[in-house]
Amino acid sequence: MSDHAFATRAIHAGQAPDPTTGAIIPPIYQSSTHVQDGIGGLRGGYEYNRSGNPTRSSLETQLAALEGGEGALSFASGLAAEDALLRGILTPGDHVLLGNDVYGGTYRLLTRVLSTWGIETTTVELSDVDALRAAIRPETKIVWLETPSNPLLKVVDIALTAEIAHAAGAIVVVDNTFASPALQQPLSLGADLVVHSTTKYLGGHSDVLGGAVVFGDDRFFEQVKFQQFAVGAVSAPLDAWLTTRGIKTLALRMRQHSENAQAIAEWAQQRPEIAQVFYPGLASHAGHDIAARQMSGFGGMLSLGLAAGADAARSFAESTSLFQLAESLGGVESLIGYPPDMTHASVRGTELAVPENIVRLSVGIEDVSDLIADLEDGLGRIGR
Ligand SMILES: *Cc1c(COP(=O)(O)O)cnc(C)c1O
Repeated sequence: MSDHAFATRAIHAGQAPDPTTGAIIPPIYQSSTHVQDGIGGLRGGYEYNRSGNPTRSSLETQLAALEGGEGALSFASGLAAEDALLRGILTPGDHVLLGNDVYGGTYRLLTRVLSTWGIETTTVELSDVDALRAAIRPETKIVWLETPSNPLLKVVDIALTAEIAHAAGAIVVVDNTFASPALQQPLSLGADLVVHSTTKYLGGHSDVLGGAVVFGDDRFFEQVKFQQFAVGAVSAPLDAWLTTRGIKTLALRMRQHSENAQAIAEWAQQRPEIAQVFYPGLASHAGHDIAARQMSGFGGMLSLGLAAGADAARSFAESTSLFQLAESLGGVESLIGYPPDMTHASVRGTELAVPENIVRLSVGIEDVSDLIADLEDGLGRIGR
């Protein structure tokens, strides 16, 4: 598959028809165990669902092909994937350097769960190369970044970060959830590992929770696979299948998400009620040039800073109708959220706290004129 283009890989990698019936869609292997031909005589290596399941394998092949990786593992959630990755690679005394705007759940996992197992975590502004160099320590095992970030859509130069981290003996993990592999390929830019919440754009239809680790080479695969097997946070067969189905339209969806978000960002810039528009597709965005270089589209996420402050932002988030008020992102339907009280409530009062006057939009693939009309209605209802 590696000689085919992205959209082709997304549809065909790991998706060979069922050999016994010719069913064009590989079946959902809703089975917890596999019959052995004599003790240890496994068919296709399958034994018990926690160690492997053919539907999960099909998704893992597809995920590796999407990111240009050597292998992938599919988990029950994005955080389960992160947890297995971190425990598979780190040992007590290791240090993790996080971008200062990574997903709040990643920060919580490291500072409140893994800290008790002897892992130290600090954060840094990754767009500041001097700060990055100064923050890396001899014990730094992982530099963890997210670009574009959540909710301020900050952009980090993946290739430059990888160069600096590697020179200091650390590996680089990129959380590629926001861009998706349709728009950004971190392994080709020098990252060692990619993680995903497949709950978001990869699944794409807000109907499944899942996560993945994709490996640039075979250095860490066995360690993380062992964690997955020993701890058990695997994706269930139906969830894996739904994710596979979502991925087949990823390239198309990401094009439309990006086009709609760009139109909304340009509309928002003209509105007096909106003081800041955070979207890397705007030439005025601080990370625009890097994003244009390392992404093939700017994605469907954007945040808006309301000129009238926090109360106006809260009211706006409750005043739209096509944009539904909910956590999460990346589905075909548009969502609006108030990060300080919703997605980022767990980092309030920490160094990862976000401005109080913003709303975050996950722009769906509805007709963009309906979306803009909905936002205009919402602005008109602020404070009512
Ligand atoms: C949602 C999300 C996660 C966590 O994934 P879950 O599937 O919710 O466990 C991690 N990183 C980013 C960027 C996310 O948006």
